[in-house]
Amino acid sequence: MKRLIPSIFLATVFGIFFILVSCQPKSSTPVAEVAELEKAYDLYKEQSIDHRRFKYNDVIHLVTKRKQGFLVEEIGRSVEGKSIYQMTLGQGPTKVLLWSQMHGNESTATMALFDLFNFLEGENDGFEPIREKLLERLTLRFIPMVNPDGMDQWIRRNSLDIDLNRDAIALASPEAVILKNARDFFSPDFGFNLHDQQIYYTAGETSTPATISVLAPAYNYETEVNDIRKRAMQVIVGMNKVIQQIAPGHVGKYDDAFEPRAFGDNFQKWGTSTILIESGGYPNDPEKQEIRRLNFIIMLHALLEIAEVQYTQYSLDDYYSIPDNSIRLMDLVVRNISQSKEQHAYEIDLGIRRRESDAHGSFFVSGVVDDLGDLSIFYGFEELDAKGLEVVEGKVYETPFANVREITWDKAMGLLREGYLGAKVQEAVDRELHSLPLIVLKNGNSISMGIRTGGNPNFFLAQGGNLRYAIVNGYLIDLNDNSPQKLMQRVQ
Ligand SMILES: [Zn+2]
Repeated sequence: MKRLIPSIFLATVFGIFFILVSCQPKSSTPVAEVAELEKAYDLYKEQSIDHRRFKYNDVIHLVTKRKQGFLVEEIGRSVEGKSIYQMTLGQGPTKVLLWSQMHGNESTATMALFDLFNFLEGENDGFEPIREKLLERLTLRFIPMVNPDGMDQWIRRNSLDIDLNRDAIALASPEAVILKNARDFFSPDFGFNLHDQQIYYTAGETSTPATISVLAPAYNYETEVNDIRKRAMQVIVGMNKVIQQIAPGHVGKYDDAFEPRAFGDNFQKWGTSTILIESGGYPNDPEKQEIRRLNFIIMLHALLEIAEVQYTQYSLDDYYSIPDNSIRLMDLVVRNISQSKEQHAYEIDLGIRRRESDAHGSFFVSGVVDDLGDLSIFYGFEELDAKGLEVVEGKVYETPFANVREITWDKAMGLLREGYLGAKVQEAVDRELHSLPLIVLKNGNSISMGIRTGGNPNFFLAQGGNLRYAIVNGYLIDLNDNSPQKLMQRVQ
């Protein structure tokens, strides 16, 4: 009897405790609302960057000149002698390494890292609880711009023409040695491998761009899943949930075929739960600023989920159900173009992709017919149904202009409406860049229509004899629309 009262007492206490525990917020409570993360981005976006082709010297101060807090250390130099830095912040037991731009022309995540650095240094903004949690529970280490030489040349590879992401084992390049040493010294629990992919990837067999593609890379050919890889998959599920709220459907899963020479695959093998983020394309976002914003939001969210160990709630089924990457996009698809040959008319779809080339510290594009025929499985960022329209060859305006600056947008549109697709100039300094809806020629008197694979498409589409659209270097110009677009062109 004597022990009965304490037992009842204990049972009551446990009962109350149980009720209290079950009233606690469920583990699926988000670590932060999307609106809050979006607000953080608006506050901390690094305003000095608004395009993706920035150079090392223009941004390196964003690494080296941080406020107190970041420990910034040079950890080696590139082939051409540019310093590569690691930046460390936080004192937590869970170590996270994030590295960007091992491929020189993949800069989207680097921009988002600069934004994230600003956020991590912020104060008196209401984000203190988030920031404190991150820095108490995590030790964050960043290596932005692993390939500064490639970045300055705007190429994927380094200055020795080595693909750093195929050099994790051979370690022939100094940049790969730097990244490998950084991993070995730090032994991170989590790694974020930050890249850009082609803008033409879609989420599965749909027309929706894979704006972000994700992968927990495999650590063997069998693509097995151990606890290390499983954690990476779970973090990805959390990231996917956030993107679905902002850009529904815009997530693809990168191919998980094991690449024994790649860093992500080897990080996973070496014991770091590794998450690959690939920034793809998004409509009307040629400079990838919306994609940069998404990067910031999902990285911050993922770090919070890691800090709170919230990712463990996610099932791997939700990882596997992310649609696979597929390449289904073109810049422009013109459907049902009528082509005549030997007195017969044929209907084809024309798929155009634009290739970028560096020039004058900027770039220009060349529209190329990537494919033609039945393109029903492909989609365009822009599409036009040309059914019922006639293809018309463009003329070159005979009287030369003195230079490109003499041709205004309105003048160019006027020439297009009169059937001129090209104009000549007397002077063109080093074939300068321009953004006119017209082919500007230094030499030459004619413009080929280019309706063949590999061709440079330039022609008009007319309806009942009236010119309706121009295809200029693969850009679609609506002749009834006067609002200027920015075409990236060069004098030819
Ligand atoms: Zn890459």
